[in-house]
Amino acid sequence: MTDELPRNEADLVAAAAEFAASEVRPHAAKWEKARALPAEVFQRAAAAGLTSAILPPAAGGGGVSMLCAARMADVLARADFGFAFALKVHANAANAVARRGTDDQCSRLLPDMIGGRRIGAFCLTEPGVGSDATAIACAARKETGGWTVSGEKAWVTNGVIADVLSVYVQTDARAGWRGIANLLVEGGSPGFTRGAPYDLLGGHAAGLCGLTFDACRVPDANLLLPPGEGFKAAMAGINMARMFVAALCCGMLADSLDRALEYGAARMAFGRPILANQGLQWELADVATDLEACRLLTDRAACTLDAGEAGIAECAHAKKFATRAAVRGISACMQAMGAVGLRADEPFGRHFAAAKMCEFLDGTTEIQNVVISRSLLRPFGLDAS
Ligand SMILES: Cc1cc2nc3c(=O)[nH]c(=O)nc-3n(C[C@H](O)[C@H](O)[C@H](O)COP(=O)(O)OP(=O)(O)OC[C@H]3O[C@@H](n4cnc5c(N)ncnc54)[C@H](O)[C@@H]3O)c2cc1C
Repeated sequence: MTDELPRNEADLVAAAAEFAASEVRPHAAKWEKARALPAEVFQRAAAAGLTSAILPPAAGGGGVSMLCAARMADVLARADFGFAFALKVHANAANAVARRGTDDQCSRLLPDMIGGRRIGAFCLTEPGVGSDATAIACAARKETGGWTVSGEKAWVTNGVIADVLSVYVQTDARAGWRGIANLLVEGGSPGFTRGAPYDLLGGHAAGLCGLTFDACRVPDANLLLPPGEGFKAAMAGINMARMFVAALCCGMLADSLDRALEYGAARMAFGRPILANQGLQWELADVATDLEACRLLTDRAACTLDAGEAGIAECAHAKKFATRAAVRGISACMQAMGAVGLRADEPFGRHFAAAKMCEFLDGTTEIQNVVISRSLLRPFGLDAS
């Protein structure tokens, strides 16, 4: 799986796999039940080089390719999507500071973010705004020396623990996307409060909650992206994130297939292993084919990004296909397990809930179709509805 990666990148994927096996998988069911992820696990991930891999070397990062980062996400999600996604969101937040932040922001925030001592979050969605991100209403008013932020954010991954929050704000309600800026809100800022952790179908290690900003004062020094730059950066970030969601789905699907095969080879019914039944073999063969296709689409999206291209359609294809294949395939693997697949000490319940969540986050399946349709219609001078 890592044959085509250079040695240093293959080593990082191996480190991620080792971390997943020793630090994540044994605790995943417990974290799901406790509906929380211990903050120290980020520090252990940092020590294994997992928080900084995608950051540029000049900022103390590994500067790895998107292909390598996708493989890291894949092996971590095999153990637990909630943790893998929380780590990805954190690393992406640190990467945004490293690549777009001022020298002051980098020196103040990055060492603790890379060390996993301060956790990052991406705050775009609001209670009233999801797919149509241009409509965000969380407002930032310019005042001497800073900004006053008022509004709410919803569905914030790492929201329950994050203390470097990358918040998209509207600075001029009449300006649409051109008014959107990005501010770094630090935990403990007056006027900033977190809601209770969301009670969801699964994925609780991702620490989702809503946030409220009540005349929250943010200094000029924490402006990451000025009005006009915020929306473009959010869309570029979401595009890359879609490729990572596809990689996470590859991991969960691979783990489900491995477990269903292992169990099916040993479980006896009617005097033979259940895997001796052709009907079951073909169900799992279809999962294996889908998994191959998911990996190829994910790799293609990652390589397109590595080539410096926008890869908008490639990332949308990968996300749409991989999330659908994961929901369908994890369910098929669960079916092959019989009732045992329902047990909390098996991974299927966590993987299935997470795959369903992946159909919404970073743009729903329908929004991927809008993006793909746009690329199909462009040569005809038409836009997608
Ligand atoms: C696990 C998880 C983690 C998340 N983490 C974050 C995070 O860290 N930060 C953050 O900002 N957000 C986060 N989100 C929010 C996520 O980005 C939104 O859920 C997503 O953008 C969709 O918005 P919505 O759920 O409000 O759906 P809506 O926009 O309300 O859409 C509802 C339905 O209408 C459909 N629809 C909408 N517009 C169209 C259209 N033009 N054509 C066809 N169908 C359409 C949608 O596809 C969907 O089926 C997370 C979500 C989940 C589930």
